[in-house]
Amino acid sequence: MNEFMCKNRHCGWIGKEILRAPHPFDEGETLYFCPQCKDYENLIATCDMEGCDKEAVAGVNAKDGYKRICSEHYTEYRQLAK
Ligand SMILES: [Zn+2]
Ligand SMILES: [Zn+2]
Repeated sequence: MNEFMCKNRHCGWIGKEILRAPHPFDEGETLYFCPQCKDYENLIATCDMEGCDKEAVAGVNAKDGYKRICSEHYTEYRQLAK
């Protein structure tokens, strides 16, 4: 849950522990780096739904907290919420 995935196709890292560093020019901004290939801006958050590792595209407030979900699950979720 709340995992990240590296979009660099040579890397393909998936995990929770990403590297963070303050942006050198924009104060208050944070840069996120992949711990494996050390690339930045290639990290995407993955869907919080059980067993799903698709790219999260939206966030919803669920009963058990904030969840990031993929487009597929978003549709499903909206149906459930009705
Ligand atoms: Zn990577
Ligand atoms: Zn999903």
